[in-house]
Amino acid sequence: MLELRGISKAYSIGGQTVQALDSVDLTFEAGTFSAIVGPSGAGKSTLLHILGALDTPDSGSVTFQGQDIQSFGDNQLSEFRRHKVGFVFQFFNLLPTMSAWENVALPMLLDGGTFRAAKPRALELLELVDLQNRADHRPSQMSGGQMQRVAVARALMMDAPLILADEPSGNLDSKAGAQLMSLLARIAHEDSGGRAVVTVTHNVAAAAATDRVVTLQDGGIRSDTARVS
Ligand code: ADP
Repeated sequence: MLELRGISKAYSIGGQTVQALDSVDLTFEAGTFSAIVGPSGAGKSTLLHILGALDTPDSGSVTFQGQDIQSFGDNQLSEFRRHKVGFVFQFFNLLPTMSAWENVALPMLLDGGTFRAAKPRALELLELVDLQNRADHRPSQMSGGQMQRVAVARALMMDAPLILADEPSGNLDSKAGAQLMSLLARIAHEDSGGRAVVTVTHNVAAAAATDRVVTLQDGGIRSDTARVS
């Protein structure tokens, strides 16, 4: 579904160049939950941003469902980010003044829809993440684990085939973190057609629920292991 070939990215600061990614080749398939792990500075965030077209590589190609993302114009790119990718962030990024279901519905609003039209789907998604009883709660009235499940429901609102999660359990206790990882695994596996779910984590225990662990080091792939469940 998503294929990276020869992806390199360097940053220059004060005359020094840091090779954040160095000729990375990776393929992500629907129905698979992948973890990207590795020490701080290994290039994990840079890789995730390139996967979500939030950043562009210096060289190499990113192909999504057969289309070269670098050839996209601005409209196609924002269409890609809005419809094809769902993001889950470490700090949840929920709007504090909105209820759980309104937060879930938000991507539909940003796409020109109305709350009224989006509500049934938002409630369905809250049920999927086991929060049907929290639909009218504000983020401040929920635990970290619940807030992150709202964020997962929001990432699913536009039916994106690719879900990217950046340290989604980084602010959760170990139990809530494990629950969240199982939820992401379920989302990758259960859905009709399946989704590609990719998470960055430096928590090795959190990677236990995944099907595949890609270990980055110094901008390169140190290992790429399929887990047998
Ligand atoms: P990780 O997510 O694995 O901690 P990153 O992808 O954030 O790694 O960073 C990889 C390398 O690139 C690091 O050495 C980091 O300092 C450098 N880097 C990342 N983003 C920037 C940036 N915007 N400007 C300069 N250097 C950066």
